[in-house]
Amino acid sequence: MGTLRGSHRRWAEPYRIKMVEPIRIPTRDQREAAILDAGYNTFLLRSEDVYIDLLTDSGTSAMSDRQWAALMVGDEAYAGSRSFYHLVDAVHEVYGYPELVPTHQGRGAENILSQILIKPGDVIPGNMYFTTTRWHQEKAGGSFADVIIDEAHDPASLHPFKGNVDLDKLRRIIAEVGAERIPYISLETNVNMAGGQPVSMANLTATYELCHEHGILVMLDATRALENAWFIQQREPGYARRSVAEILLEICSHSDGATVSSKKDNLVNIGGFLALRDPELARRARGLLVAYEGLHTYGGMSGRDMEALACGIREMIDGDDHVRARIGQVEYLGNLLIDAGVPIVLPIGGHGVYLNARAILPHLPQDDLPAQSLAAAIYLDSGVRAMERGVVSAGRDPATGENRHPRLELVRLTIPRRVYTQSHMEVTAESVASVCADADEIGGLAFTDEPEDLRFFLARFRPLPVPAKSTAEVSQRPLAEPHLIASGG
Ligand SMILES: *Cc1c(COP(=O)(O)O)cnc(C)c1O
Repeated sequence: MGTLRGSHRRWAEPYRIKMVEPIRIPTRDQREAAILDAGYNTFLLRSEDVYIDLLTDSGTSAMSDRQWAALMVGDEAYAGSRSFYHLVDAVHEVYGYPELVPTHQGRGAENILSQILIKPGDVIPGNMYFTTTRWHQEKAGGSFADVIIDEAHDPASLHPFKGNVDLDKLRRIIAEVGAERIPYISLETNVNMAGGQPVSMANLTATYELCHEHGILVMLDATRALENAWFIQQREPGYARRSVAEILLEICSHSDGATVSSKKDNLVNIGGFLALRDPELARRARGLLVAYEGLHTYGGMSGRDMEALACGIREMIDGDDHVRARIGQVEYLGNLLIDAGVPIVLPIGGHGVYLNARAILPHLPQDDLPAQSLAAAIYLDSGVRAMERGVVSAGRDPATGENRHPRLELVRLTIPRRVYTQSHMEVTAESVASVCADADEIGGLAFTDEPEDLRFFLARFRPLPVPAKSTAEVSQRPLAEPHLIASGG
C-alpha cells in the first residue's frame, strides 16, 4: 500500500463508496419545530430532523464491506462461539491483553471494572473525568480525583500532549489518601473531555512506574488509543518511523488492563470489552459479567457483532492510512474554523472540533448554559447537530448538590468515521462561522426538566431572554469575516 507519510502531499480517503444513505436538509420551520420539541437538547432531536449529524462518533462509523461480510459468518452459539475466539485473538494481537471480557459497550466494561476493584471510600485518580466512567466509580462508592496537567483545562494551550498525567498531583493524592485507598488509576487515551487530546508515551511510562512503586494498578480507558497512537507517531521524538500498530501495542504494555468502547476506534456500531492481564481479576470480572451482561463468551454482543468487531479491530491498524484520513478530516474542519476566526480548543483533537462557547458567548454566565445554547443555535441555523460538553455534562456535585463549573464550556462537533465527505465539513464550518458572527443575538437556556443521573442525555430546557448588548463584550469576539472560509484555508 503506497503511503505519503512525512510529505506535504494531499491525502484522500483510503476507500471508495459503494453504497449511499440519502439525507435531507430540514427547512427552517421544521428545524424550529424540532428543537422546540426536543426541549433545546440536541440529544432529543430525531435523527430524521438532522442534516449533518456530528452529535457523536460513538457507534456512528461506517463499516467496511469486509465487516458486513463478517456479520454473515457470525456464530450465534450461546456458549463458546467461534466469533468470540476470533475476537479474543484480535484483542490479543492488536492490544496485547491475554484476557478478554466482552461487554455490550464501554460502560458495561466500566461497571464490571468498578465493581471488582473499588471499595467504598476509595479514590480513583484519572486524567480528566469521562461521564459514564466517573458515574460507575461513584456508584461503586469511590470518588474521582483529577490528575490531568493544568494545560488540559486551558483551551488556548498548545501543549502537544494535553492528556498527560501531572505526576506531582498524583503523588500528592497518594500521600494524602494512601496507596491502599487507590485501587487503580483510570488513564484515558486521547482524552475525550479535554477535546481528544493525547497522552505521551513518556508520560504513560512514568505514570505506570509511579503507580507500580505504590502497588496501584493502571487501567486504561483505551477507547481512543488508536487515535492517541497516531499523535505519538506525529509528535513524540523517536516514534516517527514506528507504525501506529506498534505504538498502540506499546501504549497498552504500560497498563494492567483496559476498558474499551468499541463504538469508537474499533469501527463497529455496538460493542465493547474489558481486557486484562491478570487471570484472577478476569475470573472475578466474569463472575459479575454473567449477572450484568451475559455469558463470558458473548457479554452483551451477538456472534455477528463479535465477528464484525474482530474484523474492525484488525482493519483500524491495517496500515496507517485509515487513522491518517480519520484525524485528517477532523483537522480539515478545525482549520476551516480557525481560518474563519472561530475560537476552538487547540491543538485540534482526534475525534472532533470543540468550540469554545465561553469565548463565543461572553455575554452569557455559565449558569445560563452557553454551550447548550450554542449547540441549539447551530442546529437552528443549518440542521447540523453538535453536543454540549460544559456545565450541563459536568452535572452536580453529589456531596453539595451544586452545579459543577468546569473551566471548559464547549460545543463538540464530532466526526463519525468514514461517513461524511470534506464537503460536509465545509457546509458545517460555514454554518458555525455564520452563527458565531451573530452570537450576541443568542440567549441562554434554563432547565425545565433535570434528570438526576447523567442529566445531559435527557434534560429539557427553555430559552432565556437575550441579554442587552454591551459594545465592550461584542468587540472582544475575535471573529473574522465568514466569507474567509470559502477559500478553504
Ligand atoms: C464513549 C466512551 C465511553 C463509554 O462507552 P459507551 O460504549 O458509550 O458505553 C467511555 N470512555 C470514553 C473515553 C468514551 O469515549
